[in-house]
Amino acid sequence: MHKQLTIALVAHDHRKADMVEWAIFNATELAKHKLVCTGTTGGLIREAFIKKGVPNADITCMNSGPMGGDAEIAALVVRNKIDLAIFLIDDLNPQPHEADIQMLLRQCRVHNVPIACNRYSADLMMTSTLWDDPEYIPSEPRYIKFDRK
Ligand code: PGA
Repeated sequence: MHKQLTIALVAHDHRKADMVEWAIFNATELAKHKLVCTGTTGGLIREAFIKKGVPNADITCMNSGPMGGDAEIAALVVRNKIDLAIFLIDDLNPQPHEADIQMLLRQCRVHNVPIACNRYSADLMMTSTLWDDPEYIPSEPRYIKFDRK
């Protein structure tokens, strides 16, 4: 992909191993973009990139998720500052900040931001040729009642 994106990366504690492994695998590509992460996720990715020999990635760390990091990223989504979100949610354990998680998911849907909640989706979104297609204009969600007639 040639276009520089701002990519949000968030992983819950039990999904951080997956996120770090995925980020290392994609380190060279990710380092071409701006990364915005929740606190702990961003710190782990930064460490992993340094170990991998990719020290200059542009990584901004927000607060830790439970302390408002997801909410901060949701606010960036509302302001159209995020192009793509990779959000590895722990679906097997309750989270103290469930309300913020739902807010981030909802704002991505409302503002038509692609959001991958598993690595397979993340790989597909990262490799899409649509990012660089000048003819492609994403259609916005329409909140209208479907009329069958
Ligand atoms: P963390 O936050 O990266 O600071 O752990 C992620 C989350 O729990 O949403």
